[in-house]
Amino acid sequence: MKITAISVYQVGLPLKEGRYAWADGKFVEVFDSTVVEIETDAGLQGVGEVCPLGSFYLPAFGLGARAGIAELAPHLIGQNPCESAKINHVMDTALLGHPYAKSPIDMACWDLLGKATGTPICHLLGGRFGENVDLYRAISQRPAAEMAENIADYRDEGYRKFQIKVGGDALEDIARIRAAAAVLQAGDVLVADANTGWLAPDALRVANAVADLDVYIEQPCRTYEKCLSIRERTSLPFILDENIDGLEALLRANADRAMDVINLKISKVGGITKARQIRDLCVSLGIPMTIEDSWGGDVITAAIAHLAHSTPEAFRFSATDFNSYVTVSNASGAPQRRDGAMSASDAPGLGVDLRHEVLGDPVAVHR
Ligand code: MG
Repeated sequence: MKITAISVYQVGLPLKEGRYAWADGKFVEVFDSTVVEIETDAGLQGVGEVCPLGSFYLPAFGLGARAGIAELAPHLIGQNPCESAKINHVMDTALLGHPYAKSPIDMACWDLLGKATGTPICHLLGGRFGENVDLYRAISQRPAAEMAENIADYRDEGYRKFQIKVGGDALEDIARIRAAAAVLQAGDVLVADANTGWLAPDALRVANAVADLDVYIEQPCRTYEKCLSIRERTSLPFILDENIDGLEALLRANADRAMDVINLKISKVGGITKARQIRDLCVSLGIPMTIEDSWGGDVITAAIAHLAHSTPEAFRFSATDFNSYVTVSNASGAPQRRDGAMSASDAPGLGVDLRHEVLGDPVAVHR
């Protein structure tokens, strides 16, 4: 099988809640998602998606994804999409860095391998562990009382894991964490994610002030070194996200005992192939993971479900159903949350079909 064309679609994904806010006053109301459809000489199509969390969360943005795909496309035409290692080698040779631009291509190639072999991606990634995958709900940054109300509402919808967005004023963040903890019940999981928003003194103040609570601290500061310095001075369980952008970062952090859990985002590390490497290494090292992406619609939600469902349950700290956060559906067949959980499709590949009526005409077709 050979790649004959790559069509690129741009679709806006408005947030159901209107606005998603996190550290430093950053927010997004409509997510800029890029969907690719790879055509082959076998008549099969593979689909992928990348959706940065605005242009100021990770070094990634929507226009950059589409420009990166245009840069990569001439090197990919004629390649066999079922050779995932070779496809990644070709992309890494043609373009240094820009993992988020490579992620939808890699995802679409896995979709094609699954379709060509009649196999769901989760089986190709190692198997299906358990009935379904537990999800967390991200709680947008608002005044403490409103966030506690949001948690109670999402708890009624079946979620038992909550990640509240902090990384703002230290005193307000302490109030947010305490208000959230007060509405949780035994067995619920609470994460306070600062998304790099605190300077070290405020991170320490918050960690000290909530040290009596059952809460995880996620990515308090911008740099790895600052996060490590907080980690060394708190007894609270610790998650690294933004700083874990590849295998080398994971190995260093593991050697430094810098975290208890990592957040593994597919596009942050360059696609399913590289996310699987990191996932498998985490299982070998004994590190649980939140398995997700920076954001996304139905295609990315399907990819998350396959990667998470093929991960042993003890290592699935949580996962994300982004398609339930947004008002636009870009594909049918994607997992739908039920009682705070989702499961990977049994259909070949990702198990989704693009909604071309939603995507409209491609913004680029590379042949
Ligand atoms: Mg995070």
